[in-house]
Order: sequence, then C-alpha cells, then structure tokens
Amino acid sequence: MLARALSITLLAVGCASPPPPAPPVPSSVPPTLPIVQTGAEVLRARASDVPVDRITTPAFQELVAKMIATMRAAPGVGLAAPQIGVPLRVIVLEDREELVKSLNAAERAERERVPFATRVFVNPVLRPIGDERVMFFEGCLSVKGYVGLVERAREVEVTGLDEHATPQTWRVRGWPARILQHEVDHVDGTLYIDRMQTRSFATAEHAKALYAGKPIAEVRRMLGL
Ligand code: ZN
Repeated sequence: MLARALSITLLAVGCASPPPPAPPVPSSVPPTLPIVQTGAEVLRARASDVPVDRITTPAFQELVAKMIATMRAAPGVGLAAPQIGVPLRVIVLEDREELVKSLNAAERAERERVPFATRVFVNPVLRPIGDERVMFFEGCLSVKGYVGLVERAREVEVTGLDEHATPQTWRVRGWPARILQHEVDHVDGTLYIDRMQTRSFATAEHAKALYAGKPIAEVRRMLGL
C-alpha cells in the first residue's frame, strides 16, 4: 500500500508550477504491485491524461516497468494504471505463447488470438472499425477468479503515445482488439462486468469445466444467449 501511495504522489498530474526533479528510485522498490480489486474508487473514476513532458521522467518510466512486471507476474495480457492504484491514462498489453497454449487450434482461430510483443499506450484513444462484433469470455485481474461473456468490436484502431512519448497508431483485429477495448475501458472507469452478458458470469473454474474446447456458438446455446 505504501508503494502504491508513493506512486500516486510522484505521478500526480495537473500541477501549475514546473515539476520538481524526480527523486531517485529506491533500489528496494518491489518489482510488482498489488492489483486493486473491484469496489475500489480508483477503478470507477475517469483517469487523468498524462502530460507529455512527464512520460520520459524516471518516475513515469518506473511506473511503466512496474505495470509490465505486475501484468506478467499475475499473469495477464493487459493492465491499466488504475489497477495498481494510479489514476492515469496508461495501459500495457502483451500476449505470450505460454498464455495461449491452453487453447486448442480451433479456439485460437475463433478468437484470432496470436501472441504479440509488449505495447504501452499513454493517453489512448480508441475507435471501433466497422460494425462487426464478437462475443467471448473475458476476465479481469481486478475481478479475480471470474469470467463473463462480453461482446466487443472485432477490429479497432488505437492512437496515443508510446513509453518514449512518440505518437503511435495500432489498427488490429481479434484478441488484441479485445484486450485494447478492455484496457481503455479501465482508464474510463468501466469494467467488463458492466458490459457482460450477466447470465454468463461464472467462476473461472466453472467456465473451464463447462465450456473449454467448445465453439462459442455452442456456449451461447448452453446459456440461452
Ligand atoms: Zn481488467
């Protein structure tokens, strides 16, 4: 909790005067932070834009490094700064082969899920491409242990800055598009449980036992959706 409060203080935005020099990062800082669980106010507020001149500061770089470490340790495929108690519009995401291997080939293809290297978006702005929407189970590190079916745009385009404050645009479809929508929702104070088909809400264990390996059309029939 102390580390979390410290991060918020160091990264507070909106100061009228020039920011003081960033303090050195203590070597004792743990590589990961606790993940805030649903019910916390920080997950329900609109996070603040990051001033561009903050992005290259040591404190901000430390935040990004901790977010990536925390995401990997969870393990997860995405993390938004509010999930570690920091009310800033920053998201990190990646998908790794070891996280995909529990899916069979048909499940991978249906989800359009392919591993991708780490991406960092600061002040992301997302827009759906086209009208096609797809529904799959998703979970959240801040709603630990549960999953629900969520309909999302199949393809999106996200613009923003990377961790070096360089403008970037990513147009992508399939599972990365789902991750992006989930994470950008986080910085707007929205959780997947706000968008899910409530009848599908299940513990991860039940969902695995009942639906693993089944086409999504069959899962929807089983749930009457
Ligand atoms: Zn989440």
